[in-house]
Amino acid sequence: MLHKCVDAPAPPRRDTAALAIQGSLAMPMSLSCHCGASRILATGNPLMHAYCHCQGCRELTGASVVATSTWRSGDLGVAPNSRPLGEYLHATQQMSRHFCTGCGDVMFLVNALGMRAVPHALLEHACQGSVPALYAPVMHLHYAQRRVDVLDDLPKYLERAGGPRHGVAAAMAGIVATRAAADAVRERIGGDARRA
Ligand SMILES: [Zn+2]
Ligand SMILES: [Zn+2]
Repeated sequence: MLHKCVDAPAPPRRDTAALAIQGSLAMPMSLSCHCGASRILATGNPLMHAYCHCQGCRELTGASVVATSTWRSGDLGVAPNSRPLGEYLHATQQMSRHFCTGCGDVMFLVNALGMRAVPHALLEHACQGSVPALYAPVMHLHYAQRRVDVLDDLPKYLERAGGPRHGVAAAMAGIVATRAAADAVRERIGGDARRA
């Protein structure tokens, strides 16, 4: 299925983000900021799509939760026809924000692993308000640091992907507690039966 943004006419002053080829976005893919002066270029496929709840992402974007797609540093950079991006290093986290000096749009964050996380707002700009289905977040990261609870069925990793997950320990504790309660009831019924 082709993405919605493929059929839509290109919005004014935007690069074409999504010239889709049967199920994947065509590479290279260009994304531009709100004012159009800054552009980034992805030349390879993203590594992951996630909601991040970490303090660094929250502080560097001003959002409570940030939906991003993440590329290796070699697969995403500033486009040749872009205005140079501004850069801000987080004071305490090993992260940086790379932004348009014209409109302030965040073009990408560089995380502690050196990977480049692009806020989905840029994809929305390019795709007329919707993120292509292939780029939809498939997990929550750093959920232990969240400021908002999210009710969905996606895995919620307390920190990085593949680590311990939110709710799994609690669910196990619930099962154990339920079993103990059932055993106690059975015990009491058995005692009553013996006394009868
Ligand atoms: Zn701009
Ligand atoms: Zn984060």
